[in-house]
Amino acid sequence: MDVQMFLLKYGEIGIKGKNRYLFEDRLVRRVAEALRPAGSFKVWKADGRIYAKGLSAFDREDAVRRLQTVFGIVGICPAVTSQATDLATLLDDAEIYWRNAIGDGTPTFKCEARRSRKNFHKNSMEINCAVGERILETFPGTRVDVHQPEVLLRIEVRGQVFLYHEEVRGAGGMPVGSAAPGMLLLSGGIDSPVAGYMMAKRGMPIRATYFHAPPYTSDRARQKVVDLAKIVARYAGEMTLNIVNFTAPQLHIYERCPHDELTIIMRRYMMRIAEHFAKEQGASALITGESVGQVASQTVEGLLTTNAVCNLPVFRPLIGFDKWEIVELAQKIGSFETSILPYEDCCTIFVAKHPVTRPKLERMCASERKLAPEMEELVAEAIRTVETITVRADGKEPLSLSK
Ligand code: ATP
Ligand code: MG
Repeated sequence: MDVQMFLLKYGEIGIKGKNRYLFEDRLVRRVAEALRPAGSFKVWKADGRIYAKGLSAFDREDAVRRLQTVFGIVGICPAVTSQATDLATLLDDAEIYWRNAIGDGTPTFKCEARRSRKNFHKNSMEINCAVGERILETFPGTRVDVHQPEVLLRIEVRGQVFLYHEEVRGAGGMPVGSAAPGMLLLSGGIDSPVAGYMMAKRGMPIRATYFHAPPYTSDRARQKVVDLAKIVARYAGEMTLNIVNFTAPQLHIYERCPHDELTIIMRRYMMRIAEHFAKEQGASALITGESVGQVASQTVEGLLTTNAVCNLPVFRPLIGFDKWEIVELAQKIGSFETSILPYEDCCTIFVAKHPVTRPKLERMCASERKLAPEMEELVAEAIRTVETITVRADGKEPLSLSK
């Protein structure tokens, strides 16, 4: 019998025809990346499955949790391999598997063999019967139930034989890298990390841009966003985070524009700057955590006016979600506790008491004209002085790419 391993089943990518191998290769890379902190693993693809074999001891629960961050995987089956080439050895190995993995309870069971290696001299039916008989003989009290077994013992005869009986649900979705990258506007709130997670789930690698306003916002607020990026990176893989000093443009807007328009005008400049980095860093869409009606700036008219400054499509995966639904997702992906830390955000500092809820595009454009000629240079300066870091998928400290 061999050491523990995982047999990983994938979903939607199974139907992708000619490009299938690209999807599988991405999945292999992501599985290897996700498992790296859990131990030493060999990861490979074969027979429409991904396999990950532990090369040294590892904590199974920890490895499963990490595998559950890999989009594209629908089922995670802890398995053992057997090198059996004849039925007698296979029966011995099945007995050992049962003893170690299932133990002495007296469950009802069913065997389900699959044989792709036709040179194994018994067919699936014969394997099922023989293994079933051995279990019944060796473990008193066990009983076969073909309709609702407590244990479904699977025996896959491929290059080697895989024995398993558990299937833990995977994250689903598409492997990251199967869609073009997106630029996430990442704030310290609850919504935007969830939005990044959702688009990564559809296969988009994520880059992120965060706007802060030192000294009005603190280092702790900045660290909170880096921590949120690390959580998104657990699922999306390594990602670039641009940290933009937005103080000067924001103060300028605050001085020159009607205060009820502040949020929308600030958001429009954020979108422009994020789009600049998107184009520079190969992202084909912007991603935000907006949802219709959540706050004054997120009315349909508000979204229309922020959209008007972008050429790239803007993806808002939370658009139809209630706040409690977003909170549930944030809890599930592990970002909630960090998001609710009470550090100030640049938008909340310069916020108006009664923000406009039905902004008119022409009025916004007229207000923005009052920002000329200085604004162009302030935006250029914010872009020039960006701090760009690489946030790693393994939670280790980010690498600084600039400054
Ligand atoms: P909350 O959970 O408080 O709603 P939020 O991040 O969604 O947090 P909103 O004010 O609703 O905050 O902002 C809407 C969207 O605009 C965010 O989801 C995010 O994509 C973007 N955004 C807001 N503030 C910033 C910021 N400081 N840096 C980057 N993006 C931001
Ligand atoms: Mg929000």
